[in-house]
Amino acid sequence: GSGLYQYDLVVIGSGPGGYVAAIKAAQLGLKTACVEKNATYGGTCLNVGCIPSKAMLHNSHLYHLAKHGELQKRGVELQGVNLNLPVFMKQKEDAVKGLTNGVAYLFKNNKVTGYRGFGSISGENQVTVKKDDGSTETLNAKNILIAVGSEVTPFPGIEIDEETIVSSTGALSLKQVPKKMVLIGAGVIGLELGSVWSRLGAEVICVEFLSHIGGLGIDMEISKQFQKVLTKQGLKFKMDTKVTGAEKTDSGLKVHVEGAKGGDTKETLDCDTVLVCIGRRPYTKDLGLDSVGITVDKRGRIEVDKFFKTASKNIYAIGDCIKGPMLAHKAEDEGIICVESIISGHEPHIDYNCVPSVIYTFPEVAWIGKSEEQLKEEGIKYKVGRFPMAANSRAKTINEPEGFVKVLADEKTDRLLGAHIINSVAGELINEASLALEYGASCEDIARVCHAHPTWSESFKEANLQAYAGKAINF
Ligand code: FAD
Ligand code: NAD
Repeated sequence: GSGLYQYDLVVIGSGPGGYVAAIKAAQLGLKTACVEKNATYGGTCLNVGCIPSKAMLHNSHLYHLAKHGELQKRGVELQGVNLNLPVFMKQKEDAVKGLTNGVAYLFKNNKVTGYRGFGSISGENQVTVKKDDGSTETLNAKNILIAVGSEVTPFPGIEIDEETIVSSTGALSLKQVPKKMVLIGAGVIGLELGSVWSRLGAEVICVEFLSHIGGLGIDMEISKQFQKVLTKQGLKFKMDTKVTGAEKTDSGLKVHVEGAKGGDTKETLDCDTVLVCIGRRPYTKDLGLDSVGITVDKRGRIEVDKFFKTASKNIYAIGDCIKGPMLAHKAEDEGIICVESIISGHEPHIDYNCVPSVIYTFPEVAWIGKSEEQLKEEGIKYKVGRFPMAANSRAKTINEPEGFVKVLADEKTDRLLGAHIINSVAGELINEASLALEYGASCEDIARVCHAHPTWSESFKEANLQAYAGKAINF
């Protein structure tokens, strides 16, 4: 400890940002506490985000393969394939429990003190913890790290009851498969959870304001291909369309939509479930930011400098509650470098261009760096390397030939500028592109690295070969 203070660092929030920062701080010798209002550690990601959604994506994929003849085509014969939703949900819950308990175990092992309760800032060096029984405890801290994350952005006029009108949280725990489900927003959450329920038998209609799916930053060529594939799987898309309201009737729900630009294209969609997934916003309610002069921007994000320092001395913020992509790995990395720089005083370094995005549908979609649209906008001359999965031996061997890899490189220097992948394992492949981008690799560098055969990764190598040499070998 540091004399005056009970703790060197008090972290508010135990999501991937907060819990990782707390562990790192303790490992580096800081006396550290972490305050969490929920019954379990792990934040959005472990409890109601990344982890449960990925369990459901995997298992709904297996069900879909069995139900629709994909396994039979491979000689695996089954009769009477049925969905047991309670068992399906239990596997998800077990995964969540295992991982959230894991955080508690790691805190213990690393000597992070956990406090269960709602944390608020009650002074420049003080966090007040309000416990469930109403009692409070005050923690004195040399430094405070705010890692309070985010919450669902509500849709004005549409009240979420988490039963029939749900956010992602309700959509992770539906008690039965909807007959007809309308998604407001075809971003990451809509496509992932829409896929889950579509595979389990729901008719899914995605209403999207923009003219492309997948949210911001996705490359348009990938987005188009992605939409085609999902349409083939049975998802329906109403693009350039906005929701104007929804109402409950005796027979179910009615969702009113119209052309994004307004006008005469009004329509009403009947359904039994609505998923509101139009984005997330920082969760800073009752945190006491004002009391110490911490400022937020127009979107409610806590303003920080290069050191992740807020307007208040010794108070830092990271993760979903500050600017940047709302991703678990972004929150984690910020947590680590923020803590390191609190100790060293050195300016932390993170290149947001090197933060990968992954959508865990089937096929998966992943990207990093610049899209073609961004490069054009920035006036950067680039070349393209492409490789279709239909020509990748591994994909062909197991009959998953959908998708392609696209790399974008500087026309003159051959330096990799972006990678865009749609295929079965894009979320794994993208990490090779991340490594290459971080290290400033050229396409030739990548193409000359020996890649094991037969692997999916060879498609990334070949796309780079095409970019630098003009031709791939197997296509
Ligand atoms: P959070 O995880 O939101 O954690 C904040 C924690 O702080 C919470 O536990 C909260 O209870 C606690 N807290 C807040 N205020 C207080 C307070 N005053 N006192 C005490 N505790 C407080 N990202 C990915 O990278 N990959 C994915 O596959 C992915 N899938 C997702 C799927 C869904 C359905 C959702 C909703 C999100 C998904 N995300 C995914 C996003 C990811 O969950 C977030 O980016 C990530 O959790 C942000 O981490 P964080 O630590 O900043 O905040
Ligand atoms: P999102 O920003 O990805 O997508 C929201 C979509 O809703 C956008 O396409 C937007 O154009 C559309 N939209 C907004 N208002 C609308 C309206 N009135 N009518 C119709 N469409 C409208 O947000 P999300 O899908 O809610 O996800 C929230 C956050 O969680 C994201 O920041 C995402 O990064 C994170 N997340 C990540 C993953 C992952 O990494 N695999 C998975 C789930 C969630």
